[in-house]
Amino acid sequence: MYSYKFRMYPTKEQEVLLSKHFGSVRFVYNHFLNQRKEAYQTNEETLNYFANAKELTNLKQEEEFVWLKEINSQTLQATLKNLDSAYNSFFKGLARFPNFKSKKNFKQSFRVPQSVFVENGKLQIPKFKGGIKIKLHREMQGNIKFATISKNSTGQYFVSLTVERENNIPQTTNNKAVGIDLGIKDLIICSDGKKYHNLKSKKTLEKRLKLLQKRLSKKVKGSSNRIKAKTKLAKIHNKIANQRANHIHQITNKLTHDNQVIAMEDLNVKGMVRNHKLANSLSDVAFGEIQRQLEYKLSWRGGAVIKINRFYPSSKTCSNCGWINQNLKLSDREWTCQSCGCNHDRDLNASQNILWYALKTNTAGMAEIQACGLPNYGRTEQSLRSSGRLKQEAPMPLGSV
Ligand SMILES: [Zn+2]
Repeated sequence: MYSYKFRMYPTKEQEVLLSKHFGSVRFVYNHFLNQRKEAYQTNEETLNYFANAKELTNLKQEEEFVWLKEINSQTLQATLKNLDSAYNSFFKGLARFPNFKSKKNFKQSFRVPQSVFVENGKLQIPKFKGGIKIKLHREMQGNIKFATISKNSTGQYFVSLTVERENNIPQTTNNKAVGIDLGIKDLIICSDGKKYHNLKSKKTLEKRLKLLQKRLSKKVKGSSNRIKAKTKLAKIHNKIANQRANHIHQITNKLTHDNQVIAMEDLNVKGMVRNHKLANSLSDVAFGEIQRQLEYKLSWRGGAVIKINRFYPSSKTCSNCGWINQNLKLSDREWTCQSCGCNHDRDLNASQNILWYALKTNTAGMAEIQACGLPNYGRTEQSLRSSGRLKQEAPMPLGSV
């Protein structure tokens, strides 16, 4: 549980209604405290919350108390619960006998236990039509559980919104999830169509690298010229490594800034040797580093990387209908689904499948992302069940991230 406190700017009309809420809460608390006290003193009867709530309903029907109808009934019920727990604490020896609330000792506040939300800079609660203007000086994360509205001694109004954060669900900053596929030609292909290229200057530097290596081999061992050539070569190596590191940092910064959830194939080192895509040893290092950076950067930002089983056929599967193209060759950059006729860019299709599969097999992430309105790529659970794909692999919990 976590609370955000915001200043509220009610209209004159709303101020009147707020004032009625403060007063009614105090009235209900005192009225039922008195009733409980009397019931106990006269009949040695202990009234509980339910007895109070029933009586409150009756009270509202009486002409004398008809003004209670103007008040959010959930707020009044919350007051009864508050009284009930004060009573219970007393009987457990945890607190003193509840006091009557006077105008002096009463903190002007009331609780709205449900139907609370913020929309267009306004706090929406029952009975307050149009909502109350609030100043959202910071972004909220989590689901609002209840609101506590208060007025301080200088006449300022505040709302404290208590939210529930679930740790296993990535916290939302911009509600976006992306699937990424790693490759040689394009370093990263995103399910939203973005592509990140391999470092371009690498080729020119590699040319220079080869030249220097050639020169070095011609130098006499132990000569000062050889030492000079070696130093030059080391500098080039260093430059390439730095550029590559910089490039990867820029990409992972961008990806983790733009997305809350990133789905990717799990690149375990053992498996990498067998993976055709990762034949290039330089790429091996880059891919491992990309994964490492995405994980720690997203965890800083409150997001998460969802890793999926590398043996899920992300390239061969049609992201539109789920049909599997068993004949897809490594050289096929584009292909057409024989089931639905959809034409696919190989890598884009793979990244979309990776995202889709990650969300499908990760229930926590799924709930979060569905709330963001992510497309289902035209597939239904039914079509997947019938193709047998849903049962094939065990879900990978977020905890494994
Ligand atoms: Zn298809």
